[in-house]
Amino acid sequence: MQALLESILDEVRPLLGQGKVADYIPALATVDPHQLGVAVIGTDGSLSQAGDADVPFSIQSISKVFSLVQAITHQGEAIWDRLGHEPSGQAFNSLVQLEFEQGRPRNPFINAGALVIADINESRYAAPVLSMRDMVRKLTDNPHIIADMVVADSEYQHRSRNAAAAYLMQSFGNFHNDVDTVLKSYFHHCALAASCVDLARAFSFLANQGRCLHSGNVILSPRQTQQVNAIMATSGLYDEAGNFAYRVGLPGKSGVGGGIVAIVPGRYSLCVWSPALNPSGNSLVGMQVLEKLTERLGWSVFAPV
Ligand code: GLN
Repeated sequence: MQALLESILDEVRPLLGQGKVADYIPALATVDPHQLGVAVIGTDGSLSQAGDADVPFSIQSISKVFSLVQAITHQGEAIWDRLGHEPSGQAFNSLVQLEFEQGRPRNPFINAGALVIADINESRYAAPVLSMRDMVRKLTDNPHIIADMVVADSEYQHRSRNAAAAYLMQSFGNFHNDVDTVLKSYFHHCALAASCVDLARAFSFLANQGRCLHSGNVILSPRQTQQVNAIMATSGLYDEAGNFAYRVGLPGKSGVGGGIVAIVPGRYSLCVWSPALNPSGNSLVGMQVLEKLTERLGWSVFAPV
């Protein structure tokens, strides 16, 4: 596995000049686009990594999976009164469907849906920022995980679009807490910094029927694990979820920091990172790495079981 990861990174390195780092969050525009890393953790405990797999990056929308898991843990199926689990077919920060669908976001992995989930969690936790940070520290097995406050502040300064989504949902009665307070929690979650190794480890429970590999803690039931994987497979890459299913064939979740996590149910959790994005806001080289890896190893949730 180690040798395979290294050879795939060598193959895709010439592409590192392509794509564009997210610049609508100014603090992310300064990230060096030539970084590339990948980490794979097997449910047998094996870890393989290559390139910049230990370099922390801004997890951005990958945090939406952690927030969803938190909300499922304390609200269960009731969360679906507030949002759907249908792919949106629209950009991650789009507002168009919200107006037509009475302020009910399509899924938890677009910004509007993640803001509703953050609103649900805001009502539940006395300190949502700390409870999320602590959850990520436990899941990554890394007590040093912190949010990059320069990124969080930069997102807050440029919050217009996310604020517009939250106020639109509030106007439909689908937002219960103070918008500014929830936005700050949400940006803080997005600004958490973690490496490919951290994230591959953190998502091992989704490859392991809901049980965290290193702690043995039950994070979700086997059924809930399948459901989260299903939402990742259908909505984890926004309007590119279909392309991701076609090219990679695994449940996945991307972020505008350039990370993509993917799950081979029962077998592996993996994370790839390269900061330059394609027009859908997904890591351009990260997609290539995952496509090559899954093709070589025959990994796909659409393959015969
Ligand atoms: N923090 C980012 C935003 O709200 C997350 C978007 C993303 O990673 N797709 O715009």
